[in-house]
Amino acid sequence: MSAPPSDSQPASRAVPSSVDVVVVGAGFSGMYLLHKLREMNLSAVAFEAGTDVGGTWYWNRYPGARVDVESLAYSYSFSEDLEQEYEWQERYPTQPEILRYARHVADRFDLRRDIFFRTRVNAAAYDEQGRTWRVRTEHGDAVTARFLVMATGCLSASKLPEIPGLDRFAGATYHTAHWPHEGVDFTGLRVGIIGTGSSGVQSIPVIAEQAAQLTVFQRTPAYSLPARNRRLRPDEIAAMKANYRAFRQAQKESGFGVPTPIPTKSALEVSDEERDATFERAWESGSLVNLLTAYADLSIDQAANDTAKRFIHRKIHQIVEDPRTAADLCPEYPVGTKRPCLDTGYYETYNRENVHLVNLRRTPIVEITERGIRTSDQAYEFDVIVYATGFDAMTGALTSVDIRGRGGASLDEAWSAGPRTYLGISSAGYPNLFMITGPGSPSVLSNMVVSIEQHVDWVTDAIAYLDHQGLTTIEPTQEAEDAWVDHVNLIADATLYPKANSWYMGANVPGKPQVFMPYAGGVGEYRKTCDEIAAQGYKGFALSV
Ligand code: FAD
Ligand code: NAP
Repeated sequence: MSAPPSDSQPASRAVPSSVDVVVVGAGFSGMYLLHKLREMNLSAVAFEAGTDVGGTWYWNRYPGARVDVESLAYSYSFSEDLEQEYEWQERYPTQPEILRYARHVADRFDLRRDIFFRTRVNAAAYDEQGRTWRVRTEHGDAVTARFLVMATGCLSASKLPEIPGLDRFAGATYHTAHWPHEGVDFTGLRVGIIGTGSSGVQSIPVIAEQAAQLTVFQRTPAYSLPARNRRLRPDEIAAMKANYRAFRQAQKESGFGVPTPIPTKSALEVSDEERDATFERAWESGSLVNLLTAYADLSIDQAANDTAKRFIHRKIHQIVEDPRTAADLCPEYPVGTKRPCLDTGYYETYNRENVHLVNLRRTPIVEITERGIRTSDQAYEFDVIVYATGFDAMTGALTSVDIRGRGGASLDEAWSAGPRTYLGISSAGYPNLFMITGPGSPSVLSNMVVSIEQHVDWVTDAIAYLDHQGLTTIEPTQEAEDAWVDHVNLIADATLYPKANSWYMGANVPGKPQVFMPYAGGVGEYRKTCDEIAAQGYKGFALSV
């Protein structure tokens, strides 16, 4: 696998031996955390495996990488000055534009001086006597902290497929989440790509334009909507800037962190004509949320969901000229139960002569060979293989650190039957350990910047509360955690989400327990619950002096 080269950032400073808070990760979560902790006059350091800030937007540099929540919404709200001064260029910015934003934030708030780059945290153990966390890095440094916050990201532990022969291929290989910083020139090359989730759907049209041939290996098709990306107009930027506070409030109260009218009608109570017109408007709008919230019962009723499925199937058949390819591109699982995608020319790409789709349901991959990929019926030869095969999502980055709580209990082992948290923020047996957008919170079912800010605010408020009350530890009770896990499952089971083999369920990682991991009750409802718990003196948590 070709490794990304490093940026800059010499790590010449010494790691302090003791701080109030250790933050792991310097993506949007870790950056905002550092800023807040400084405002509270707490000492903090962040450790980041990469060579710069930005997290997701630092690592995922594949061609076509973009956000699928609009820039004016997918941005920090904590600083009105930042909001007003930053000039977004596009409705759905590219990875370089979002990384530029992250770097701007790091510079503007002088964050880098407390971040140790190129430094992976590989262990953290709770000292019950000292009531502190002892955090160890890959370089052998150790730091003691009163609080440990894992801002390690839901989608940061990338995953190669379990296919025999991965190391055998003689050509170049790339994973979308470890893209070389200097880019890849596919001109004239025969390229194979495995994976048709969001990363595949975004990169396939761009790679197809360069490559001599592109062969797409698809195990499960994605539902994808055209993004209808464009440059932002000065008048719409000005209108948003004039109205930002109200917009941010609406984000906080919404279901997905993106303000949309709450649907009241069933997809089954309207005429076919009315329904088609509604779906058509969503399709034209270039907004996933408009599709997912077109009717009240799309996420809970199979028959209602089937109406959306049929609409998208029809669209695919209209766009893709070869009927067999079109049929292969039509997903069967309920719309929205795997993360839907937003694309630029995805289905159209299959009309190109240099693009070929291999349906792995019919002809599975047998092995990677020295020259390419062999399926059950054919050997394909490539110069390059791209793995758009995703992540060990939600838990992978947390359990890959050797976290030991009370009695030396390993978090990885404690979660062996699936993650167990209270509010997706903390876990029983791990005092003063917080997770940002952890499993059991809305996280990946939302505009994540909204969820990140909410968690950072809640966690830092909790720390301030402890300090103000002269308390030293906070830890969920087993009862509160069990009740929260049951609640998360109850809500998930009332939806269609568990019907798909998705990474939400852990289904993409062989052997991973299949549990629906995010909280599906909506961003607004979840925030209310978190706020009520805090207002009741952190109900469900044991606090001690
Ligand atoms: P991350 O950005 O993942 O940052 C975590 C950081 O922690 C990483 O830099 C990682 O290197 C570091 N880290 C992890 N473990 C360790 C360790 N042990 N030691 C040291 N450092 C460590 N969300 C949306 O809402 N809208 C979108 O359109 C959207 N698009 C996305 C596109 C892609 C390609 C991907 C992968 C995700 C996307 N997401 C999107 C989700 C995205 O991850 C979040 O929006 C957000 O960027 C997460 O920020 P974070 O800081 O929580 O995590
Ligand atoms: P992903 O959604 O998990 O997709 C991985 C793809 O690889 C799937 O099609 C999967 O097939 C396939 N795959 C995995 N192992 C395979 C194997 N052994 N053989 C054949 N195919 C295999 O990963 P991703 O595309 O990187 O996206 C992850 C998440 O990141 C998204 O869901 C989204 O939340 C976020 N993201 C967002 C954007 C955006 O538009 N803003 C862009 C990229 C990523 P199966 O489905 O059959 O497992």
